[in-house]
Amino acid sequence: MGQERTKSALPRVDLFSGFLGAGKTTLLKKLIPEAWPGERLAVIENEFGKVPIDTDFLEETGVRVRALAAGCICCTLQGDFRLALRQVAQEQAPDRILIEASGAAALSSVISVLESVEEIVLDAVVTVVDATRCVLFVDKLGNFYRDQIVNAGTLILSRTQSCTEEALAAAVSRLRELNAEAEILTAPWDSLSARELREALQRQTHVSAAPGLTGRLRPTIRSAGGLESCAVKTERSFTPAELREVLEALLADEGYGRVFRAKGVLRGSDSILFFDALPPNEINIRAGHSAQPGQLVVHGTALQEERLIELFK
Ligand SMILES: [Zn+2]
Repeated sequence: MGQERTKSALPRVDLFSGFLGAGKTTLLKKLIPEAWPGERLAVIENEFGKVPIDTDFLEETGVRVRALAAGCICCTLQGDFRLALRQVAQEQAPDRILIEASGAAALSSVISVLESVEEIVLDAVVTVVDATRCVLFVDKLGNFYRDQIVNAGTLILSRTQSCTEEALAAAVSRLRELNAEAEILTAPWDSLSARELREALQRQTHVSAAPGLTGRLRPTIRSAGGLESCAVKTERSFTPAELREVLEALLADEGYGRVFRAKGVLRGSDSILFFDALPPNEINIRAGHSAQPGQLVVHGTALQEERLIELFK
């Protein structure tokens, strides 16, 4: 049955990450009953410990939960995770699969696994962040914690009602330093309906949802701090070598502006290509799966949008 569904009918996947105690399960329990009316939902939940304690809590919402325990879907349980995704997609044929990653998961690794599974389409990437602890955790917890922030399309802050205004502002500015493009939600959850929370997920900027992409709109958006984001659409199909050459030029040539980061998903000669490029010369290109290839976003200052558009043409 999975093979017969067209791409647009494939289950959408929303991925929820966040460190232990940030509130992922609480958030899901609020979202599940109301946020996706009319959609058939399935949940895959990963807990690092042996006994998946949150499963029962989530099943109270009436949705089916597939638990993966005693390991982590970003590393030790990657194979089990792929298998679970395929089985849930084919056997339950849901409209949407919600994934709760373990607290220690590296988000970029989970995203890579999801992009390698053809039976699903990745939609929102959300990280729940404890507003009272994130400034401390960014410094103390190491790379996986930063990875969860850097790769999220939406950062949903928890416990903001327990923060002073100054502490909340400090948390947001630290998060913004790490992730210039994510939607950051600071409103206390009690003040928001499940629908309003869900809208924040839809506004996420995780590659596929780059704003202002039609020809009539200016592709460049400027933030208050002077940081610019230039969204480029292209029909061109690249070989990995061609794409690498273009990205090397982008990072090396000041004529495109001062580039801080570029990421996107493009048509490739054999498969769809995801890339992430950081100066001075870090370029990652990998094959993956996307319903909307042909777009990228360049972040930086003094960006030359016409030259950027020309570069990827
Ligand atoms: Zn892991």
